Amino acid sequence: MGFALPPLLHVIGGKTVASADGATLPVIDPSTEQVIGHVAHGGGGEIAAAVAAAEAARLGPWRELAPVARGKLLFRLADLVTRDLEALAWLEACNVGKPISAARGDIGGVAETLRYNAGAADKVEGAVIPLGDGVVDYTRLEPLGVTAHIVPWNYPLGMVARSLGPALAAGCTAVIKPAEQSPLSVLHFMALVAEAGFPPGVVNVVCGDGPGAGAPLVAHPLVRGVAFTGSVEAGRAVGIAAAAGMKPAVLELGGKNAMIVAADADLDRVIDDAMMGGFENAGQVCSSSSRLLVARAVADEVAERLAARAAALRVGPALDDPDLGPVVSAGQYAKVMGYLAEARHSGARLLTGGGRPGGLARGYFAAATVFDRVDAASRIACEEVFGPLVTVTAYDTDAEALAMANSVSTGLVAGVYTRDLQRAFAMVAGLETGSVWVNGWYLGGTQAPTGGIKDSGIGRERGMIAVRNFLRIKNVAIRL
Ligand code: ADP
Repeated sequence: MGFALPPLLHVIGGKTVASADGATLPVIDPSTEQVIGHVAHGGGGEIAAAVAAAEAARLGPWRELAPVARGKLLFRLADLVTRDLEALAWLEACNVGKPISAARGDIGGVAETLRYNAGAADKVEGAVIPLGDGVVDYTRLEPLGVTAHIVPWNYPLGMVARSLGPALAAGCTAVIKPAEQSPLSVLHFMALVAEAGFPPGVVNVVCGDGPGAGAPLVAHPLVRGVAFTGSVEAGRAVGIAAAAGMKPAVLELGGKNAMIVAADADLDRVIDDAMMGGFENAGQVCSSSSRLLVARAVADEVAERLAARAAALRVGPALDDPDLGPVVSAGQYAKVMGYLAEARHSGARLLTGGGRPGGLARGYFAAATVFDRVDAASRIACEEVFGPLVTVTAYDTDAEALAMANSVSTGLVAGVYTRDLQRAFAMVAGLETGSVWVNGWYLGGTQAPTGGIKDSGIGRERGMIAVRNFLRIKNVAIRL
């Protein structure tokens, strides 16, 4: 199996273009460490051109399309993504090391997200406000205008779809800045955007890094809204820059998410979900279940069963469809290895993994790792590692579990496993996170809002509220 790489160029106003200075960045396959291409590396000049193209499209053909027509284009785009699912999945696998089956699942999710938003395009309704018989007062929900979409590398096209779908449904135009590590799938996707019939300039892509391309995009005066997914540090910088320009920003940042396992939980389900939540995408998921808090009566059993399953995972190159692929880059590999080395000296008990798996000469592979008896205040229990590492910490009371779960600086998701409905409801109320999942992990979906509190960010994505992110209210009052 093999597919062609798309042109590794920016897409501005419907045209593929190189950087004015000819700069490029290597694209690396993390399964092999091979350079598989060189992608244009843009800066302020490319951003200015892309924003100008998006502004021209906003004022031109895009504005004239009825909402239902925007929806039809999005439906067509979803169909094209489904048609090209294999090629897009292959690009994700080669570019970020995702096992190919998982990459197929991701691209299926992209199509689903686009369809959801396609259906939303003609369902944006304002309000009529009763001011008495002498005045008609109503609201128009208007598109913000040109919007910035800055995405990370863990779900390259999935994250694009999550904010681009609602932005287009709302009638905005867009400039996408993919992560510097992972431009491939969005560049193929841009050919589908054109094929679907979107007017040139409605969607643009500038490849580049955060400071060089992302920052000028957020700061550009014609950019009226920002959607960002990434690290807490970069998100804070983006939020500050957006605030300086008085633009709304949706920020979805990191998490150190607690999976709370009560003694009465269904442990078979717990182990299945902890495997998925801990090791899917090599743990490089904001909402991963990286931190298990387990009632002391079952803590050793949970840790040991989880470690046995983790030790049996097949690790290997993405296209071999392993259970666990590499992490995304040399930088991420070094970060994960640093945490593992530190954790081995932290007093926690290493049950499996803890470093590089044997038998793989090249590639950014980290073994699936389980530490138990982890101090809830230690760095591996409090900081987002973004790698295949799960910590297990025992607790004695529900109050202690809640306090541990809430003790970290982030608040993205938490999960509770129990057969006791009252305990579940009490935990749901007490957890300081944007989402709570009960007796399941990675619940929710395209239709349900997601996002964080505390350092995990501001705003919600997915669901109808995501479309609302890209709309502003104009109140109209008419004296009769
Ligand atoms: P990670 O640490 O997981 O690589 P980052 O938060 O650094 O994640 O990157 C997520 C996205 O944000 C990437 O597209 C990156 O280029 C971009 N980015 C990083 N820093 C900034 C910044 N200061 N302004 C705008 N975008 C940025």
